[in-house]
Amino acid sequence: MVAIALLGGSGFIGSNFAQFLTSCDGYRVSSFDLNDKKLRLRFENKAYAFQRLDIRDSGSELDRVVAEADVVVNLAAHVRPGSFLLKPLEIVDLNFYSSISVVEACIRHKKFLVHFSTSEVYGKTGGSPEPFREDLSDCILGPVANHRWIYSSAKQLLDRIIHAHGLANTLDYLIVRPFNFVGPLMDEVVPRWTREDNPRVLANFMSSLIYNRPIQLVNGGHSRRCFTYILDAVAALELLIRRRHDINRQIVNIGNPANETSMADLASRLIRIYRTHCDPTADVAIEEVASEDFYGPGYEDCDRRVPDISKLTRLGWIPRYDLEETFTSSAIYFYENRRRLENLLHREPK
Ligand code: UDP
Repeated sequence: MVAIALLGGSGFIGSNFAQFLTSCDGYRVSSFDLNDKKLRLRFENKAYAFQRLDIRDSGSELDRVVAEADVVVNLAAHVRPGSFLLKPLEIVDLNFYSSISVVEACIRHKKFLVHFSTSEVYGKTGGSPEPFREDLSDCILGPVANHRWIYSSAKQLLDRIIHAHGLANTLDYLIVRPFNFVGPLMDEVVPRWTREDNPRVLANFMSSLIYNRPIQLVNGGHSRRCFTYILDAVAALELLIRRRHDINRQIVNIGNPANETSMADLASRLIRIYRTHCDPTADVAIEEVASEDFYGPGYEDCDRRVPDISKLTRLGWIPRYDLEETFTSSAIYFYENRRRLENLLHREPK
């Protein structure tokens, strides 16, 4: 039995992963987070192991949690671009300093760390048509004045520190880089959009459809992303944990390169899916907004983000959900659970 501690375990990825692991043999899962709202929604009436833990000021408690686990998965992070712009110092506080204490606890107790990095670390394409490769691609970020990149920089430095511990032979780890995971419990739906309540693109487009307000297309919607359905993502994560000794001390992308779309095409696709599967009478406009008005100053976009997934496919993983299934399943979940998702509405803590 492998004892897994999920830190940030009641977020989007953690709650879906904890539920997925109940269908797999050989794991004992404990989830730690500020609250268990998403776990409660995901597990409905079934039992799950949860304990409140704030990794920002948990000291000896974090130490105990790590000591009792075999594998520590650190998912605790602020992940919305809107929050990078609004509170850059809090991004560094949680995504860097608190995560360092998790790395140090894993070193102290000789525990395997699965650290969640981000595809944002790669930054912009710099005009290259090549997919992002873990050990070969450059990380191309904009100037410091564009503080959107503070998240990417904090995560990149952490990746480099973890890598250096591997070189020093003091830590066994896996660094995971997720590419735009979407699906149930991703973010809440927001009746009224504000910069403070600004979910990521799928949840914001769904909020527009549900509350009948225009879809906001930032800078014309030319940026491109590859979306990965959460069930594909958690299956990949379980495989990586199962095979962790074969891929120790590596960085691995999780993403679906076949699911590439521009934001403008995503908006049209979602409107069609929503009318077909949710509300045939829905009639929302698409409105172009300047990034300056949407996010405030300091924003710069990743133009395109495509993963190379050969490390994962060599282990036997293939993503199964194409764009249509990914967004149909997601839209139906958002629509059917809209009241419950509204109740999830919270600002990211502190
Ligand atoms: N975006 C948009 N409308 C929205 C939210 C986001 O056009 O309501 C754009 C955003 O500018 C970016 C893309 O959608 O180009 C993906 O944004 P998201 O917040 O999901 O995260 P990212 O992939 O940038 O980390």
